[in-house]
Amino acid sequence: TRAFLDRVAAHRALNAFITETAEPALAAAAASDARRKSGQAGAMDGLPIGVKDLFCTEGVRTTAASKILGDFTPPYESTVSAKLKAAGAISLGKLNLDEFAMGSSNKTSAFGPVVNPWTRRSDRSARLVPGGSSGGSAAAVAARLVLGATGTDTGGSIRQPAAFCGITGIKPTYGRCSRWGIVAFASSLDQAGPMARTVRDCALMLGSMAGFDPKDSTSVDRAVPDFEAALTGDIRGLRVGIPRQYRPDGLSAEIQAVWDQGIDWLRQAGAEPVEIDLPHTKYALPTYYIVAPAEASSNLARYDGLRFGQRVPGKSLDEMYAKTRAAGFGPEVRRRIMIGTYVLSAGYYDAYYAKAQKVRRLIAEDFRQAFERVDVILTPTAPTPAFGLDDSPADPVTMWLNDVFTIPTSLAGLPGLSLPAGLSGDGLPLGLQLIGRPFDEETVFRVAG
Ligand code: GLN
Repeated sequence: TRAFLDRVAAHRALNAFITETAEPALAAAAASDARRKSGQAGAMDGLPIGVKDLFCTEGVRTTAASKILGDFTPPYESTVSAKLKAAGAISLGKLNLDEFAMGSSNKTSAFGPVVNPWTRRSDRSARLVPGGSSGGSAAAVAARLVLGATGTDTGGSIRQPAAFCGITGIKPTYGRCSRWGIVAFASSLDQAGPMARTVRDCALMLGSMAGFDPKDSTSVDRAVPDFEAALTGDIRGLRVGIPRQYRPDGLSAEIQAVWDQGIDWLRQAGAEPVEIDLPHTKYALPTYYIVAPAEASSNLARYDGLRFGQRVPGKSLDEMYAKTRAAGFGPEVRRRIMIGTYVLSAGYYDAYYAKAQKVRRLIAEDFRQAFERVDVILTPTAPTPAFGLDDSPADPVTMWLNDVFTIPTSLAGLPGLSLPAGLSGDGLPLGLQLIGRPFDEETVFRVAG
């Protein structure tokens, strides 16, 4: 723990942590030592991890990377972080993210952007984004500041930063991990998951995070399998779907090449690639950017200056609300709240929100039909490698397009894992995504491993 804390201190320029908890970590490490000596070690005993600052942690400031929660210290612990603690993992602190997990670059954080530990071969001095929203988690794992980190994924926030930083991350099936105590973004999509260097590390960590929780009505009462045991190395006879619709005309040659490489590896290991159709893929992005902001605008109504965090006084209640929210929320969060409020408003609800729900159903149905023919689906994780911190897309819609391969999985609630699969021409990590049937993380892990 001490060695990892030293690395955390030596790499503050990455801005991966919002809050470091060195003292409690050392105390927890001592307690872990005692447990090990008495033969009572848990599955993750003594392993230093980081926790995305979207998970409420008892007595430790939890900001969601927003000014509005800048001084919020929860009196309770999220189920997932409590489970990790119970398994013996040692948290070194709270990791940076996009504000309220809204973003793909980590640049929307009120605590400043995170820097990707990777650089381009052609220009080692240009700083790159780690992806988002779990950018602090991905950067901390990639820079070896922690052995694993929690992430959350609403539309790609575990998988895309994992790909940008050359690590592994899995968004489990919706309902696999409890959402209780995680600051809500879009409740029908939000899901916690592990980010770590290897598939095996993710399997180990997910085993400690997952499980039914009566405090989250959408958590599913199913036994948690031994995910590590699924890593048999044998994928002979498995059918791997390759969706035609994920090959848009503009797909870059290097992304195409890493995807073809992945297909080849699986074929050589005895699996059978099968072309499949997911016909409603092109509607996924617009559907997500209606559903997610709608739920966000409803969830974020609770930041009213009364119940949590920051308050800016005003002459009336309305003025206090307005001033608090104007000062507390950054531009991306305000944009989402406005879109969400619009699509839920009386005159537009049927045209946008209700329609999006129907399209979401069609997208899920595409996957259901595909999984009658294949066991797992292989796609790229993101259409680009990490982009520059200073030259990332300025307009929000271009930024949103980065989620094109991860969002359909989220809308369908399916497990999706990103693993490092190669390097771009300029030496940056590229990821491949494996998508599985509902609650079949085991096959996803087996194929990835
Ligand atoms: N980039 C997507 C968004 O901005 C996904 C974020 C996430 O998964 N939390 O909404």
